[in-house]
Amino acid sequence: MNYTALVNRFICDVPVYEPGRPIEEVARELGLKPQNVIKLASNENALGPSPKAVVAMRSALKTAHLYPDGNGFYLRRALAKKLGVEKENIILGCGSNEVIEFLYHTFVAPGDEVVAGNRAFVIYAIMAKMFQSRCVEVPFRDLHTHDLDAMREAITAKTKLVFVANPNNPSGTCVSNAALDRFIRSLPPHVVCVLDEAYYEFLDDPPPSIAYAMNRNVVVLRTFSKIVGLAGLRIGYGVAQKDCIALMQRVRQPFNVNAVALAGALAAVSDPEHIRNTKRMTRQGLRYLYREFDRLKLEYVPSAANFVLVRVGDGATVFQALQQRGVIVRPVGGYKLPEWIRVTVGLPEENRRFIRALSQCV
Ligand SMILES: *Cc1c(COP(=O)(O)O)cnc(C)c1O
Repeated sequence: MNYTALVNRFICDVPVYEPGRPIEEVARELGLKPQNVIKLASNENALGPSPKAVVAMRSALKTAHLYPDGNGFYLRRALAKKLGVEKENIILGCGSNEVIEFLYHTFVAPGDEVVAGNRAFVIYAIMAKMFQSRCVEVPFRDLHTHDLDAMREAITAKTKLVFVANPNNPSGTCVSNAALDRFIRSLPPHVVCVLDEAYYEFLDDPPPSIAYAMNRNVVVLRTFSKIVGLAGLRIGYGVAQKDCIALMQRVRQPFNVNAVALAGALAAVSDPEHIRNTKRMTRQGLRYLYREFDRLKLEYVPSAANFVLVRVGDGATVFQALQQRGVIVRPVGGYKLPEWIRVTVGLPEENRRFIRALSQCV
C-alpha cells in the first residue's frame, strides 16, 4: 500500500508543532529519575490545578460512564455571568486551540488569507496550511512585538482572520491598549479579529476585550490551561457575538469537551484565590529571573505573562545542556529566534535550579 500516493497533497506541507517535552519522555531518554526532572517548557501553572477543581473532578469521575453535557450548560452559564455576557456568546473547545480550528472551519476556504505576526503563536500559521489558505506573516516590530499598523496594511479583500496574541507566546509581550483599540476600530467588516488571550489574567491593565467581542468583529479566546492550571484537561473557550458563535457551533463535534474537564473548569471559575496566588508567585519568579539574567549578563524580554525569553547564545545547544541537567525549557529556533530559549516561571526552588543549571551552560 502506498499511502503517499493517496494523501491529500497539502497535508505534506503542514509543519509539525514541537510541544514542550514531557518529563517522563526526557527521563526515559536520559536515564534520569522523573522526580529529578523539572519542566519549565509549556507555560503551565507550577502551583498545580486549582484545588477546588481537583475536588470537583474527583466527584465527576463517578459518572464517567455517561457522555458529557455536549452543550456545556453550567460552565457556559457560569462564564457568561462572570464576563457579563450570555451563554450564547460562548463556545467551549478542547483547549482554546480547538476554538482556533473552529474559526478556520467556519470562515476560511482554500485560497483565502489570514494575517498573523511572524513571531506570533505558531498554531495560527500551521492551521492556515491545514485549511489550504495563506498565512501572511507580518514582521514583528523591534523583534518582539506585534506591529499592528503593518498588520492592518497586510489585510486584503481575501483576508478572513487576523490573529493578535496578547500577551504573545513566545515573546511574552503585549500591545498597548491604545494601539489595540485603534487597530480594532480600523478593521474592515469582512475580517474577523481573533484576540488570543491565553495569558489575559496575568495583565495588570487588561484591554476591554469582552466589550470588543460584543460590539465589533472580534472573537476573544481564553483558556483554563495556563493560570488556572488545567492544561492536562484540554479546555478553553471563545467569546463573540451570538451569530458568530452559532456558526462556529455547527463545526464542533458533539462531545468535544469531556465531563471531567467541564467539572474542573466550572469549579475553577469560582476560585479567584488560586489565580491570585499564581499571579503573585509569577511576579516574584519573574523578578528573580530578571535579577539573575542581569547578573549573568544575559539579555531578556520583559514579560507580561508567566514565561520569559532569554538570549543564551546557541539556543538549541543550551536547551540540550539544560535537559542533561534535568531542566526542560523550550528552544525557539522555530520562531526564527535561534539564540534564545523560553522558560516558564516555576516554583521558587525550580527557578533557582534552572538558574544554577543555566549558569553552567552559558
Ligand atoms: C497555550 C496557548 C494557547 C492554547 O492553549 P490551550 O491549551 O489549547 O487552551 C493559545 N494561545 C496561546 C498564545 C498560547 O500560548
